Amino acid sequence: MQQTILIVEDEPSIVMLLKYNIEKSGFLTDVADNGEEAVKKSREKKYDLIVLDLMLPKMDGMTVCKTIRKDENKVPILMLTAKDEEYDKISGLEMGADDYLTKPFSPRELIARIHAILRRTGAKESSSDLIEIGDVKINLEQYTVYLRDEEIELTRKEYELLVYLAKNQNKTLSREQLLSSVWDFDFVGDTRIVDVQIGHLREKLEKNTKNPEYIKTIRGFGYKLEDPK
Ligand code: CA
Repeated sequence: MQQTILIVEDEPSIVMLLKYNIEKSGFLTDVADNGEEAVKKSREKKYDLIVLDLMLPKMDGMTVCKTIRKDENKVPILMLTAKDEEYDKISGLEMGADDYLTKPFSPRELIARIHAILRRTGAKESSSDLIEIGDVKINLEQYTVYLRDEEIELTRKEYELLVYLAKNQNKTLSREQLLSSVWDFDFVGDTRIVDVQIGHLREKLEKNTKNPEYIKTIRGFGYKLEDPK
């Protein structure tokens, strides 16, 4: 899943430069050209990182940063500063910026800095902790599962089974394979325990358990999780 970076800058030529280089590196971008809009956007959407210019109309970068942190939003922030601007690194970092970059900067430096921040912040809350299959969303960080935006209750085994199936989406998995991976031991013989748990999962996920859209039975072999769309 592609990560999205919010670019906050009022100078069109710099916006273009940022947008071009960030998108070339495989990210999606959104742009805000003033501080108030930046705060508004940060509340509407979960960004993977914000590149935030210090000098902005309506609300300066420092205040934007402070406001975002006041919202308890932990999105990584890379602050952009101009050489002639009086910018105190320490207070910038105290306001909650993760790093800063002085203009003019090379595109290579910018991208390297973005990657470094994403690595450092562990991308813990990034999209990689979210698996989406059709209307099912699994949040691996919080151990929660949502179906059409409503949380569904799963037992621990059901959850583990679903995550394993989801991580192996579109792959046919044998009962033995599921048993040894999800139940943590090589169970010789009775694999009906897998069928029972699959049955429980279907009851919670499928509209019609007799004609499942998500968890397909592969006759004589095992199961496969598919995106119905
Ligand atoms: Ca500016």
